[in-house]
Parts: sequence; C-alpha cells; structure tokens
Amino acid sequence: MGFLKRLSCLHCSAACLHCCAVVVISLLCCERGIAADQRPNIVFVFSDDHAVQAIGAYGSRINETPNIDRLAKEGAVFERSFCANSICGPSRACILTGKHSHINGFLRNGNRFDGSQTTFPPLLQQAGYQTAMIGKWHLGTDPVGFDYWEVLQGQGNYYNPDFKQMDGSRKRREGYCTDIVTDLSLEWLKEQRDPSKPFMLMCQHKAPHRNWAPAARHFKLFKDDVPEPETLRDDYAGRVELLKENEMTIRNHMHWEHDMKFHGENLFPKYFVGKHTNGEYRRMTPKQKKVWDEQYEAPNQAFIKQMKAGELSDDEILSWKYQRYIKDYLRCIAAVDESVGRLLEYLDETGLAKNTIFIYSSDQGFYLGEHGWYDKRWMFEESLKMPFLIRWPGVVPAETRSTAIIQNIDYGPTFLDVAGAEVPAAMQGRSLLPVLQNQCKAPSDWRDAIYYAYYENASVHEVPVHDGVRNDRYKLMYFPRGSKWQLFDLEKDPQEMKSVHDDPAYAEVFTGLKKRYKDLRDFYDVNTATIPATRGDEAWWSERDKAKTAQAKQGNVDLAFIGDSITQAWEAGGKGVWQQYYADRKPINLGFSGDRTEHVIWRLQHGNFAKIKPKVAVLMIGTNNTGHLMQDPAEVAAGVKRILEILAERSPKTRVVLHGVFPRGRTPIDAGRLNNVAINQIIRRFADGKRVQYLDIGDSFLESDGSLSKEIMPDALHLSVEGYKRWAKALEPVLVELGL
Ligand code: CA
Repeated sequence: MGFLKRLSCLHCSAACLHCCAVVVISLLCCERGIAADQRPNIVFVFSDDHAVQAIGAYGSRINETPNIDRLAKEGAVFERSFCANSICGPSRACILTGKHSHINGFLRNGNRFDGSQTTFPPLLQQAGYQTAMIGKWHLGTDPVGFDYWEVLQGQGNYYNPDFKQMDGSRKRREGYCTDIVTDLSLEWLKEQRDPSKPFMLMCQHKAPHRNWAPAARHFKLFKDDVPEPETLRDDYAGRVELLKENEMTIRNHMHWEHDMKFHGENLFPKYFVGKHTNGEYRRMTPKQKKVWDEQYEAPNQAFIKQMKAGELSDDEILSWKYQRYIKDYLRCIAAVDESVGRLLEYLDETGLAKNTIFIYSSDQGFYLGEHGWYDKRWMFEESLKMPFLIRWPGVVPAETRSTAIIQNIDYGPTFLDVAGAEVPAAMQGRSLLPVLQNQCKAPSDWRDAIYYAYYENASVHEVPVHDGVRNDRYKLMYFPRGSKWQLFDLEKDPQEMKSVHDDPAYAEVFTGLKKRYKDLRDFYDVNTATIPATRGDEAWWSERDKAKTAQAKQGNVDLAFIGDSITQAWEAGGKGVWQQYYADRKPINLGFSGDRTEHVIWRLQHGNFAKIKPKVAVLMIGTNNTGHLMQDPAEVAAGVKRILEILAERSPKTRVVLHGVFPRGRTPIDAGRLNNVAINQIIRRFADGKRVQYLDIGDSFLESDGSLSKEIMPDALHLSVEGYKRWAKALEPVLVELGL
C-alpha cells in the first residue's frame, strides 16, 4: 500500500484517496492481464423534476415507488444531495462538466451548451467505456462523447415524442415517452452493447416534467385525494417580500388547458391562466385522445358545473387544482418507477447487475404544493434537493442512509474515478468514490457545505436571482435585488417558514455563514461582476432596456455613453449640458440607474449594442458594485475588463474612453471612495493607448482637501448640473482628439 500511495502522490499532489483507487484499479488490470472489463458498468437513470417527497425511500406520504426503493434496500439513499442551480438545462450542464453554471456557461434554460468544453462522457470513452445517452438532453446542442445517442427534441413530449437521431434526422415514435426511452435503453443494452467493454448508459426521462401527462394505464391510480402539504397556504410572512412576486403558485398560475387539462376557452380567468394550450393532447392519436377524454372530461364537466353554480370557495378551488396537479404528477412518476424496475430486472436476468452501478437521480427537486408552489428554482429544500440512490454490489452496503453532503457537480468526477480515468483538475465537483468506499460516510476532509446559485430571473415564473450556502443545519440565501439575506435554521424550522437573519440569537451563525458564503464563492471562482445579469424583472429597467435596444437597432450612433445612474442622469440633471455638447453628435445614453458591471455585460450582449458601431464609447461603471456589495476591487475590475472585451468583439473600431470610477463619499477616507480608488488602480492598466484610453477626472469634482462638496455631488454620489459641466469640459478634448 505504501508503494501505491507513493505512486498516487506522483500522479497528483492532492486527493490521494482518489488516485490511490485509480492506481489500484489500473495496477490490478495490468498485473492480472485483464482488460477494462472488470471495471463496473454504470446505469444512470435520470428523470426531470422528480422531488424526493415523491419517493418512498425518502419517506413519501403521497405515493409509492417500489422499484426506486429497491435501490435503497440494496444500496444507499443520500439524504443531503443537492443541485447547484435548480433548473433543467443548467443541472444537466453541471453534471456533464462537473462545474458550476457560471463556469460551464449554461446559466439559464435557453442558453446553448458549449459541447466543446471538457465533459465526462468523452473522457469515459477514452478510458475505454462504451457510452450511450437516450432520452431528455435539453442543452440546445448535440450530445458529445457518446457511442450512441437518441435524444428528445427540447423539452420533449409525453405522447408520441420526436427524437433527434445521430445523423441529425428526426424520428417520431408512437407511444408513451417514459416507456419508449426505457425500450430504447433496453434495446441498446441488448443489441448494441459491446460486451468487451464496460458501459455507461444514461437513460434520461422527460417525466415527471410539466405538463404532467400520464400514461393511460396509470389513470386508475390515486382515486382518493392526496394529502395536502402543510404549507400549501403559505402567506410568505417572515421572509423576503420577493417570495410573493413569483409566478408559480397553484392558486394563481396554473394554466387552464396546459396544466389543468381542460379543453377550450378558459372559463374562469380569475382562477386559471389561459395562455398555454395542452400540446400533448394535440399530439395524440384519435385513440389516445378518446382514452384521455374518458379520464378527464367527466370530472372536468363536474368541476365546471360546480364553478358555474358558485358552489366552491377559493380554498376549495385551490384544493381541486392541487389534486388535479399532484395526481397527474404522481401518475407520471409511476411510469418512471416502472422504468427503473424494467432496467433492474434486465440487469438481474443477464447477471450484469453484480458489476453494475445503478444510480437514480433527477435534475432537481420540485414543489408539490409546498409554499403554495409548483416548479423549482428557489433554494428552498424541496427544489434544492436531488434524489440520489445508488446500488453498487460489493461496495455500497445494502440499506445505507448517507448524510454526506453531495452535489450534482460531483457526478462527472465520480463516473471518471470509477472508470479509473483521471478527473480533470478544473472540475469543481469531487468524486464520490471515497464516500462510497467508506460505507457512504463522509471522509474527514469532505465538504461541509454546498454553494448554490440561480440566475434565470426575468423569465417564466419570475423567480429572482439568488445564491447561497447550505450546510448540515443552516441555509443562507442572498438576493442581490435589494441586497437581502435570508437565514434558515433547518433543524428548528425544516419548512423554512421564518428567516432568522435579523434574530440576535443567530448573530454568530449569520456572521459565520456569511464568511462561509464568501469563502465558497472564492473557492468556486464566483465573480458576479463578470456574470451577465438582467434586471428585466424590474419593470422600469425592462422598459428602458427595450427602448435602448430599439434605438440601437436603428444604428446611426457616433457616441455611446455606457454606465449607471450617473450616466443615465445626462437625461435629467445633465440634460442642458448634454444638449450643448452631445445632442448633435449622434449620441446614445446607455446609462441605467443601479446597474453594476454584470448588468452592463448583459445589456451589451442582449441588444443595447445591436447595430451600432460608435466612433467613441464613454464607459464609467463600477460604483454600484462598491455601493451595493463593497465588492472586491479586483472582481469589479474583471467586470470592467469583460465589458471592454465585449465592446471589442461587437465593434472593434470603436475607441473607448474608460473613465476612472468617480469619487464618492464626502471625505477621502470614505470606505466606498477608497474601494473606487482601488478599482481605478487596476482598470487604468486596461488602457492600451489605442483602442482604450483611460481618463480619470475624479479630481475635477473634489475640493482642495479631497472632500466632495454638496454643490458638485449633492448626495456624495450623483452629479449636480455643475458636476455635469465639469465632466463635459474634462472629456471634450479627448473626444475631439478621437475625431468626434
Ligand atoms: Ca427539471
């Protein structure tokens, strides 16, 4: 063992346990002259939106999942298994890359996954594994690193789904999606598997994703009402106001056709959203439609009759909607559970089971009425948790319950480690192998907390950007909009009904977790100043953004001012000066009050520079990174640098006047002032004397003792008319020099 350890250390200075296992495997292979076929196969069954509250082995009160539960009986259940970004595409990207969203670039659904980056499947292939991916992919680009793949188009459909083939063609397959994905997976195992190689099969279901269209054989399930969760009627008291703003409540945001399975016009707009039709129904064959209608029409008509008669209270209507939703959701899971059963059965029959790791997971959790919600996204437990059950005969003891804190960024490193392949150092997750080989107990050097971040604001369901940390007992969340913290004691308040961030009894915990939050962000290289961020969930911002984009689409701009409120106020306090200096120079004002570098990055990439190629761009940004977060100057400077790069990409000939961030605070020792000074010390180096000129005019606003007067900056941040005059005067010679 000493020899092996020394060898492993040569391999890699850290993570000796990992490497040791790898070396053991490869040495054994060499010594015994056996090929890779002794390495375990991996079957990874991955569903979409399957919450742990709807899995027997996790203590479901509302359904049974006998086949998934077999994994728990014969293997392990991970009770502290979390996602990194609770939404479909991003979770998949985290798994493939072993990296958080801000590093792998897939922040939001609708992004296109850069398949050329390092992911685990091609590395598994290189290590001698045969790889297959069947079912929901949802990353916009084609799968990379699979010997075989057949994937659903986009979100995929439950009924008669279309699959994209490896040759680029589409094939419609009649039947029920969960069954088809299982059939195709079994077919691959039976017909295409190369018995001389270990394999990795990814069987990925659309179910139980919205709009929860069950297979006909499961209509008979759940004749009785399903118990409601205790928090179905949550009023969101005791937590950040933002919780009330989202659009994912069962009470107000269920669609008449799409979610609730009615036909025709939305008869009760007060209670249902009318927007989405039921696309699944329209795909069905006449026979499928007939069976469907036999299930839904009678109860639908009965409900409509009661509604018209005014017999139902608002609360009863909510209950009715919950039942319609949860029963369909759980019926969809019944098919997923059967899929797991069929795959397990095949492995048993063929004897493959004993050397196959079988994992069941889902891309994130889901609200099954908790907090009144459906959907996911929030960092609350129900959607933060991911199921993770694993059966690995001979390694993972039966009936194990693990409390090790794991995350989806760990999956890729784990698969590679199991295969004896090197885990790229850039992957941020950790191989679970040392946990699995330790009766699923966390080794002493295991992580104590996870980092989470959600980015898809200003989109469907209107959930705001937030991030945070969770350890074994507490959860800290941060909402950049309004700079709000939330702290939950999961031991005393498992349903997360009251934030204790302002409770003096938790002052120490709060301080400690804020430190952990900062440390984890450093550890995972999170710099929000460089991560494109929209504020489209704020109405005025969204409107201004649209107007500026419309103007930018017209082109014909010679001078662009880019920045925050100080720039925007050229349209207010600075208006007269603007008229005098810039009105006839084809200008555009791209200043948005409250913007930080990340918002400018978003805007420049999403239309604000649509068709303009200005001669000169004047950039002054960063004081809100200071004012809102007192962000590290190096991070803010990286944001400024990113903006300069985007300008170079979009309009290489534009000359940029990069202003030093204006002074703020009354005195020279104001903390915000000093932060801005530190930012400037870095960004001044971005000037290349050609495309980018650095211009620090801070002194022109200051008194001789370094103070800021009320006459120049009334609030010690924004300029007076006199302030704008001084800005224009200082800038003018440079503009002239640049040919404007
Ligand atoms: Ca999902």
